[in-house]
Amino acid sequence: MSSRRGHAPKRAKARPLGAPLPTCPDGCGRRVEYALTEAREWQLVDRDRSPADDAAATVAVRRDGTGRWHARSLARYDARPLEPGEHRHMPHAATCPVLAERARARREAGAPVDITTARRTP
Ligand SMILES: [Zn+2]
Repeated sequence: MSSRRGHAPKRAKARPLGAPLPTCPDGCGRRVEYALTEAREWQLVDRDRSPADDAAATVAVRRDGTGRWHARSLARYDARPLEPGEHRHMPHAATCPVLAERARARREAGAPVDITTARRTP
């Protein structure tokens, strides 16, 4: 466990109770959380839960005893269904208006679309 901690960015440490809720680092102002994926990467997810039957919310999130968020993709072909203690959340990359505007600007500028950035987990 302690060896994994070294890979976590400072911003992604479990947030102490009472600390202000983090907002989008790209400036859209929405409330987000960093969640640790099964691949041990940090994924930004919308803080608000989505309905359990919302297929567009492809991330299953649970909190551990330290308050850290853990994320698991529900979009993979072999994904287990939502489990007790997990809640559906949207990946913030899919809802962020700032990121969407940047992507639109890149498309209009004729720049090649980078398909590698939106999919950071295997
Ligand atoms: Zn955002």
